[in-house]
Amino acid sequence: MDPNYIHQVSLGDIKCTLLYDMDFVYRGQDFFRNVDEEILVRELIEYGQALERIPSPYIGLLLEYESNKILIDTGVGYMEQAQEINGQQFKLEGRLQKLLRRVGVDGHDITHLILTHFHPDHIGGVYSSDGQLLYPNAKIYAHADEWEYWMGGKSSQQPSIFRYFINENIAPLKDENIYLVGMNEEEIVKGVRLIKTSGHTPGHLSVALQSQGEQLLYISDTWLHPLHIRHLDWETVYDLDQDLARKSRIFMLEEAYNNNMLVQSFHFPFPGLGHVDKVKDGWTWVPK
Ligand SMILES: [Zn+2]
Repeated sequence: MDPNYIHQVSLGDIKCTLLYDMDFVYRGQDFFRNVDEEILVRELIEYGQALERIPSPYIGLLLEYESNKILIDTGVGYMEQAQEINGQQFKLEGRLQKLLRRVGVDGHDITHLILTHFHPDHIGGVYSSDGQLLYPNAKIYAHADEWEYWMGGKSSQQPSIFRYFINENIAPLKDENIYLVGMNEEEIVKGVRLIKTSGHTPGHLSVALQSQGEQLLYISDTWLHPLHIRHLDWETVYDLDQDLARKSRIFMLEEAYNNNMLVQSFHFPFPGLGHVDKVKDGWTWVPK
């Protein structure tokens, strides 16, 4: 297995391991739904990307310190065999479980599992394809608004593939050790603070980490592409509430900049680490 699928950094006393689950290629019109095509093509060239081909990684994060082993997001999951999902053949080959084992961590060792939101690339690996909870000893965290949206009637119009992942990976958690955060911010373990950053989904969470004066911000899907930072009015079809998504982006940019935080972006080129900086007419992403 390619060693580049794992990237480790230390943050004070916290050992952080970034796990490169897989890539998916998105279409320009989905990632940027309200942008003039000519402008978009020109700006994507800077990133070596074409209009119909925007490769996007999925990156989970393992935190180890003291007796805690905390996993943030599970990747898309892994299936031995292709399966028919809503009439289509799918074979998912997320690497996250294998990568965890490669760094000596078994699913049973995970003490806390944070699900930033309930889209397939973040929850697909909560259960195995044969229905086993892969982190049976973990206390599982998500936001109450996220649970209510996906488990209540409000999400019935969502694509059936999203509903499939909810049924397989979220619905069975109602009988497990799940804790639903109700506040806008909550420190669940010393140095691990969940921050509600709604917009992408109703109960989307970011995670702020702090140890020995060092800080890292895991923004999950607060933004999906560096161009969403450069152009705060550029919208993606994946955000459910455009106005809130924009507000959350600005809130996280200011949080990261004012506190000089290292930032991890789930969908940016692996390992997705960098800083945000102010430029004369807005913000920019500076990869580390
Ligand atoms: Zn995502």
